[in-house]
Amino acid sequence: MSAAIVDAVRDIVGSENVLTLPEDVAGYVRDWTGRYQSKALAIVRPATTEDVAEIVKLCATQNIAIVPQGGRTGLCGGGVPRAGHPSIILSLTRMNAVRSVDPVGRTVVVEAGVVLDVLHQHVLEHDLVFPLMFGAKGSCTIGGNLSTNAGGSNVVRYGNTRELCLGIEAVMPDGSVINALSGLRKDNTGYDLKDLLIGAEGTLGIITAAVFKLVPNPKVTATAFLSLPSLEAAIEVLNRLQDQTGDAVEAFEFMPRAAVDVICKVFPDTRRPLDGDVENGVLVEVASSRPNDSEQGEDGSIRLQIEVMELLGDLMEEGLILDAMVAQSDQQRSDLWRMRESILEAITENGPAYHLDVSLPLGRIAPFVSKMDVEMARLGFQPLTVGHLGDGNLHYALAAAEGQDWESLPLEAAKEMVLDHLIGLNGSFSAEHGIGQSKLGEMAKLKQASQLAVMRAIKRALDPKNIMNPGKLIPEN
Ligand SMILES: Cc1cc2nc3c(=O)[nH]c(=O)nc-3n(C[C@H](O)[C@H](O)[C@H](O)COP(=O)(O)OP(=O)(O)OC[C@H]3O[C@@H](n4cnc5c(N)ncnc54)[C@H](O)[C@@H]3O)c2cc1C
Repeated sequence: MSAAIVDAVRDIVGSENVLTLPEDVAGYVRDWTGRYQSKALAIVRPATTEDVAEIVKLCATQNIAIVPQGGRTGLCGGGVPRAGHPSIILSLTRMNAVRSVDPVGRTVVVEAGVVLDVLHQHVLEHDLVFPLMFGAKGSCTIGGNLSTNAGGSNVVRYGNTRELCLGIEAVMPDGSVINALSGLRKDNTGYDLKDLLIGAEGTLGIITAAVFKLVPNPKVTATAFLSLPSLEAAIEVLNRLQDQTGDAVEAFEFMPRAAVDVICKVFPDTRRPLDGDVENGVLVEVASSRPNDSEQGEDGSIRLQIEVMELLGDLMEEGLILDAMVAQSDQQRSDLWRMRESILEAITENGPAYHLDVSLPLGRIAPFVSKMDVEMARLGFQPLTVGHLGDGNLHYALAAAEGQDWESLPLEAAKEMVLDHLIGLNGSFSAEHGIGQSKLGEMAKLKQASQLAVMRAIKRALDPKNIMNPGKLIPEN
């Protein structure tokens, strides 16, 4: 970047917010997976939407690419520049204000750089919950959540980020600002532009703020770890719990034996959830904000927890559940969740692995897993599957089986086999992590050509100079 442009950017955000020294830039140019080590002309840290608009206008006139960045926990290399596209990284982390909470309308207006868990804590003060939950909550930001349309554990009840968002404020590639923060739940005045930017991974504009729905803070939760004889049984248990609790299943997370074993190996102080072996493990949580459900009996028992225990007991008698542990304290509940949320780190620490993030219609999950587990084992892999089973999302990771050398395993053949089978079952090759740079090959090969053509037309229309996070999401040819 020429000295004149650096100076112009410094004039906008202040010198201390333009980083160019290699030691200052280092942390921003490497993605969470460590797979993408990139270069940037500068790291620029705006404080306001006006700053962002001015920077975008400047970059547009100079044809400099902009890579928006939040907490850098994205798993597809979307938040770091792509080789061949000289770029600045626009870090939104200084835009970290919760602008307002409306306890009556149950909405919150929040800036893009707010860390997800900070938002959780903030709205709790109003006895409300922002129900987007997952392991990276302590680092990921709202801008990243929107741009990847993040999912997580509670999608089964509340939907993903898109479904929680009522409107956004964004800076478009020409520097104009869209302000759609009214928080209206009904507004049929033309194309819904927020839905274009959500999930666009920064390729159509920079999200600077958003308005979200909030939900009542549950008064009571019932959390359990189950061992089930099969995945088919797990889906049956999910549906039975939904029927009996009035769709109050908050999370239904798949954690089979191999996943639990890896966590306990990598983090030896993890408390095993069951005394015996876990077969098809599931962490299930039911939650309610109804006062009746949190009523306490004379013996201290809480109504919802008793009901869930009885339900699980019935399902056990029917043979749909082999073993169960119901959390008896907040500590037991948080131990279970800590175990669930440590799985990605555990697999990453355990050794090389390839992570697939797939989704399938619920009824097709069991046939997919049973066939692929056999095929992958035949090729020398150990599948380490976990997932948000309640919404049909599996993180199907392939590691080397015991005694196998990762480098000599046929990874490409394995990926092709998994993806072919997945597409045959009407699944998606990217459920919640997005495309970034790492899934461009799948996008080119597997996304319907007519849908790709529409995406390219939208990108050309809104960003004719291709300055917004180029080389991501849409395959270049
Ligand atoms: C341990 C762990 C667990 C995870 N679990 C889940 C999970 O359960 N569910 C899930 O969905 N994801 C999960 N992720 C992935 C990741 O946390 C999410 O994708 C998250 O939404 C990324 O947010 P971020 O702020 O870190 O974004 P970044 O990584 O900084 O950026 C991600 C993408 O968004 C773009 N972007 C960032 N901010 C903006 C903005 N303001 N405007 C426009 N574009 C922007 C970037 O350019 C990039 O393309 C997990 C990651 C880790 C490390």
